[in-house]
Amino acid sequence: MPRSCAPLPSAMPARYDAGNDARAAAHVDARGLGVPSGFAPRQIVRAGMAALLPRRWFLVRGRRNSQNVCLTFDDGPHPQQTPRVLDLLAKQHARATFFIIGQRAEEHPDLVKRILAEGHELGHHTFFHRKPELVAASALMSEVHRTSALIEQITGRRTRLFRPPNGKLTTSKLLHLWRAGQSVVLWNVDAKDYASRLPQDIADWFRARPLRGGDIVLMHDDMPHAAVVLPQLLSDTCASGLNFVTVSEEIVQSGSVR
Ligand SMILES: [Zn+2]
Repeated sequence: MPRSCAPLPSAMPARYDAGNDARAAAHVDARGLGVPSGFAPRQIVRAGMAALLPRRWFLVRGRRNSQNVCLTFDDGPHPQQTPRVLDLLAKQHARATFFIIGQRAEEHPDLVKRILAEGHELGHHTFFHRKPELVAASALMSEVHRTSALIEQITGRRTRLFRPPNGKLTTSKLLHLWRAGQSVVLWNVDAKDYASRLPQDIADWFRARPLRGGDIVLMHDDMPHAAVVLPQLLSDTCASGLNFVTVSEEIVQSGSVR
């Protein structure tokens, strides 16, 4: 048996219901949220929002004092790359969260089922993955509902974890998402595997910046980089005593307080 990085759960990972919070969020004054209005650097705004809002509404990173790391994979499922990523995660008994695109899920429902069957978590990432600036709030919500319904149809399970393409949202979209009970999940570690770099560059980037407790790592499972980088990243991170958990596990373990 390969060494397990973290004990596997006896049941499916814990989940939570953001519905009540979303209803409360509907009453929040948008101007009080500090959401970007086009002039503030996005990272600063994100950090400020993350410091103020409950993690179950808006998550950029987990608790710094935890031993948990969340690997997240966007833009799949991909018929060649996603199985490679799943095989590598299984070898190390590591769990991750996959933010899938509806259109691709429709083409590869078996991969969607496999992700869940192997103990990982599903989030959604719109149906078409269009440029955020070209999509009105109402169109975004229609993609959110369409993708959520598709995932439920394929797996029998609902997901409330949403990641916006490019991590971009307006105040209006954010409020719509919260009203619909969605948790918005961003990231705090980005090796930029989507920029056309060599996989070795990504591996070097991670080696120079070892993961820390609470990190939420952005990667993409529709590109070959993740499968090249994962073996070393998984074993280095396990060796430093950190566990790989799903996003919901981190939210639940944080007690969802702030
Ligand atoms: Zn994406």
